Amino acid sequence: MHIEEILARKARPDVVTIGPDETVRTLLGVLASHGIGACVVSPDGSRLAGIVSERDVVRRLHTDESLLDLEVGEIMTPAVVTCGPEATVDELMTIMTERRIRHVPVLRDGVLAGIVSIGDLVKHRIDELAFERDQLEAYVHQT
Ligand code: AMP
Repeated sequence: MHIEEILARKARPDVVTIGPDETVRTLLGVLASHGIGACVVSPDGSRLAGIVSERDVVRRLHTDESLLDLEVGEIMTPAVVTCGPEATVDELMTIMTERRIRHVPVLRDGVLAGIVSIGDLVKHRIDELAFERDQLEAYVHQT
């Protein structure tokens, strides 16, 4: 299956972004209010400047007293791993596992078109397994 189809099935297909000049305090509010673990960092809502996840915050908590007042641009990861809508679920699972990341923004013709999290991929896998189980059960009961 292609990532395009995963995006189409998402209940909330929009990408939550935050400006690089916003504070970490604001970031935590955005993550909490949207119930998400990462934000794409963008100065205008479409250009990609980086990505910032709850891990970027947690990993600095024990050393940085002023963490909440830092700017998002200071803690984000600027080199973002992205994919296109034609990437497959298997390809993305491999990328997430090897790079140890749980969020991959999707670019269509270089423009931000969505974001896929490891949770989206796990949900897809569970749906697929449930479908196969139902098919097998139906087959067994027919014979
Ligand atoms: P995550 O597992 O997505 O919570 O992120 C773990 C670490 O990888 C954090 O430092 C993130 O900033 C970084 N990260 C998350 N997603 C990406 C991505 N698509 N490209 C590059 N770095 C990422």
